[in-house]
Amino acid sequence: METVLPFFEQVNLNFDKAGGYTNYPPGLLEQIKICNSVYHMTFPLKRDDGKIETIHAWRAEHSHHKLPTKGGIRYSTLVNEDEIMALAALMTYKCAVMDVPFGGAKGGIQINREMYSVSELERITRRYTYELIRKNFIGPGIDVPAPDYGTGAREMALILDTYNALTPDKLDALACVTGKPVEQGGMYGRKEATGLGVYYGLREACNFGEDMKLLGISPGLEGKTVVVQGFGNVGYHAAKFLQEGGAIITGIAEYAGAIHNSRGLDVEKVESYRNENGSILNFAGAATIKNPADALELECDILVPAALENQITSENVHHIKARIIAEAANGPVTPAAHDILKKRGALIIPDTYLNAGGVTVSYFEWLNNLSHVRFGRVGRRFEENSRKDLMIAIEKITGKRFSEEEVTQLVHGPEEKTLVNSSLEDTMSVAYNEIREIRNQHIEGVDLRTASFIKAIHKIAISYMELGIFP
Ligand code: NAD
Repeated sequence: METVLPFFEQVNLNFDKAGGYTNYPPGLLEQIKICNSVYHMTFPLKRDDGKIETIHAWRAEHSHHKLPTKGGIRYSTLVNEDEIMALAALMTYKCAVMDVPFGGAKGGIQINREMYSVSELERITRRYTYELIRKNFIGPGIDVPAPDYGTGAREMALILDTYNALTPDKLDALACVTGKPVEQGGMYGRKEATGLGVYYGLREACNFGEDMKLLGISPGLEGKTVVVQGFGNVGYHAAKFLQEGGAIITGIAEYAGAIHNSRGLDVEKVESYRNENGSILNFAGAATIKNPADALELECDILVPAALENQITSENVHHIKARIIAEAANGPVTPAAHDILKKRGALIIPDTYLNAGGVTVSYFEWLNNLSHVRFGRVGRRFEENSRKDLMIAIEKITGKRFSEEEVTQLVHGPEEKTLVNSSLEDTMSVAYNEIREIRNQHIEGVDLRTASFIKAIHKIAISYMELGIFP
């Protein structure tokens, strides 16, 4: 039986493997790897029934080589110091891989949100924010949280409101947190960004014919069968965009069980069914699987773990049939399972790259908040008028008249969401090509995960050298 290593050790194992392919001094590698600051806080919560409970929460800032640090906040009973440090480290490497100029951070509160009322959750979130402010662990230029497992736009709005209340007169306060509701400084497209990034990343990977040939499958996403574990923010959006892109979603696993149909599940219908019934189980036209872990072992081309870490271990890896493992979640594959999958010839698209869509769009939101103007606002009308002028000139020269539909289609200036999505598409595509190139340069031993760590180490090492700390 595999003794699953602590999560942070797993991340460091991957780091050390990549470090071996670089020539940096051991001291510099150690500085990059270490977690700079960790704050463990406890505070009392007065429950609605009057009972007092102690809440444990953390914020870890893994690397200050770029500021602010950036990373989500997780609400889960599994949250502990090791997990938060590991997730903060992954954020550092992810930002470096994506060329997003942040250090890595992560926060977490050790609760099962289902056990608390809306007002209890509000009190917990506000008190957590207060603790972060008190210790200087939050601020537009210090450390900027975002949503993660168990949190969403509502919690981000509460963080902003608390920050505003306790630090008045801060001109850039909106940029203290990302993933906010659009009406409160959030960004169109942030909610779906991680899932959309998973789709763009997978599409890019599947378009390399020679890589697909090695896996024994045809190029392109079209017709690929996909099983998704975790139908939350990331899993639902990844499934939705993959289906729209031509893939067939054959299985969806949730906490309480899974559903399966080898001919495909309609993702939107499953979502509506879940909203009506509170569960995906017993969805019409699909077989229900009682143990959600069994869904990981279903026959499929692509397995998308989008729930939590340590889902594919040496215990179940021998039953995994997928040829592509797309790490939408952070740390879903243990190092031991990774090695077994790799030996079998599977393609593992690592978390350090694949789920970076969220932080990429968070970067756009942060920039937007600091500039105090929405993307596209300044130039859109000017761009539309220029295009109109160009079309009139073409009509004059060619004698051709454009239809009203053509004019509307061609003249229309970019909306914020279009700009965000196309930048995300570009960032995902460029980053995939970079890590694939590093993998191919090394030939032996280096897979996409190690390649992403190699890229991250180079980027961060350069930052330290620029600071003059290392020669
Ligand atoms: P979420 O809370 O919105 O959804 C997670 C879902 O997984 C929930 O519906 C939960 O019931 C389900 N789940 C939990 N354990 C399961 C199990 N054993 N089997 C099947 N389903 C299970 O969380 P999320 O924001 O979608 O995050 C999911 C993962 O993606 C996490 O690892 C997170 O760190 C990572 N991630 C999230 C973002 C983001 O923008 N939200 C960005 C990058 C990475």
